[in-house]
Amino acid sequence: MGFDQFLGNQRIVSALRGMLRRERMPSALLFTGPRGIGKFTLARLFAQAANCERLKDDFCGECNSCRQIARLADTETLVVQGLTERGEGADAAMVERVPLILQTNPDVWAIVPDPARRLTPVARPMIRVGQLRAVQKAANFRPQGRRRVFILDGADTMRWTDADLFLKILEEPPDTSTLILTAPKPDSLPSTIRSRCLQFHFAPVESTQMEEFLATRSEWKPAERKLAAQLSEGNPGAALALDLDESKRLRRDVLKLIEQSVDGRNFRDIFKTTAQLAKHEKESFENILELFYSLLTDLLELSVNPKALASRNPDLRRELEDLGKKVELGWVARATASLDQLSARLRRNVGRQIGLDAVAASMSVR
Ligand SMILES: [Zn+2]
Repeated sequence: MGFDQFLGNQRIVSALRGMLRRERMPSALLFTGPRGIGKFTLARLFAQAANCERLKDDFCGECNSCRQIARLADTETLVVQGLTERGEGADAAMVERVPLILQTNPDVWAIVPDPARRLTPVARPMIRVGQLRAVQKAANFRPQGRRRVFILDGADTMRWTDADLFLKILEEPPDTSTLILTAPKPDSLPSTIRSRCLQFHFAPVESTQMEEFLATRSEWKPAERKLAAQLSEGNPGAALALDLDESKRLRRDVLKLIEQSVDGRNFRDIFKTTAQLAKHEKESFENILELFYSLLTDLLELSVNPKALASRNPDLRRELEDLGKKVELGWVARATASLDQLSARLRRNVGRQIGLDAVAASMSVR
């Protein structure tokens, strides 16, 4: 038990432990990196170490504070609890008046984007001004333990107009409180906030470490663990959420579409595939586009260097090699450019199938 259970990004772990050891703590930290990489987990472990009753720069996992704060790991249950207590029919004013705050220990708060309603979501979950006001007040209270820690997960979802309020907290930081913000990228927050935080960017976890981790957390066989580590690009949360069979099937479908388009013969088949892909409900269309990109990137690497590894789609290496013999570099560039166009058009809500058909037509080499 302790920080050694955290996967990857050891440089950040040592920096945090150093601050705890020296009792020199910046008032705000910003953790950036993709969803699933471990930002919230490390923020929670930090809160445990900052309040552990036995250790100073690590945590025992057994004392009262450690056990209480550990319960923050199950954010989903806590969110459901909070929303149920507030009531499903809460109006906008009520949502601000009764801010959603996840708390399992007096000194540690987790603020997550508030979906307002659980069963009938109306808008994108976001951090609300009511939540920020509550943090502003609470940040000035003395801790019952050693340190008050406020984790603002998904800080990028707050309205930039509310950022002023947030700045007030950061400008007069009580030295017994630490705020930890998480966001996908530094520039998803206003620079006025960013510049007041000590920033840490979370890098992908090395594949051997990922495979070891997946061995303890999944039923996958070694080859599947390797594939999952590669498909998730070193992101533990994304790897655990992977439906490997579904992912394999979907990537084969996308590859089939590319192959059909390259052959440029049977447009009826192509349209059948695009219709299927466009109707796919489980995966978002953006994910399907990502699959296109990942296959084309592997194809590009293989056509430049036949000894390349097809690192994004190792299980489709042979098919990609065959395909690589049929197309030229210019083709890959054109196909990628038309995908870029489709992504841009998607933002303007052009029909998905029409968009995909246009991509397929541009991939035809005849
Ligand atoms: Zn402890």
